Amino acid sequence: MSNSECVFCRIGARKLHAMVVHEDDDLIAFRDINPQAPIHVLIIPKKHYPSLYDAHREDPGILGKLNAAALQIAEKERVASRGFRLVFNHGDEAGQTVHHVHLHLLGGRALRWPPG
Ligand code: 5GP
Ligand code: ZN
Repeated sequence: MSNSECVFCRIGARKLHAMVVHEDDDLIAFRDINPQAPIHVLIIPKKHYPSLYDAHREDPGILGKLNAAALQIAEKERVASRGFRLVFNHGDEAGQTVHHVHLHLLGGRALRWPPG
């Protein structure tokens, strides 16, 4: 399923430009338009799942695939040995703004903890 009004569906379908760093049949990864670190990549399923729960219910394996792709991209972006952070923002209190499941890969600088 794809949603023509969803910005990430449009990126996944290559109807909206993004700086793509990785792609396969199930997912696509691209640089965040408003990077919060020198390396800030979003890894998304090509299918539209509004939330983690939708993805987990409909295709639990997809979350593992996003994770595996993130690990591979971290190596390619040379942050695997330095350290990096993987984040899913879920819902209002986590500040989720795009309602198409996405995994953030952040790295290339020291990241504070706890996050704000
Ligand atoms: P959230 O806050 O929902 O976890 O993260 C959404 C992320 O998507 C934000 O970091 C935002 O900068 C990024 N984003 C929103 N629209 C676009 C877009 O059109 N292109 C790209 N590359 N990133 C986007
Ligand atoms: Zn979507």
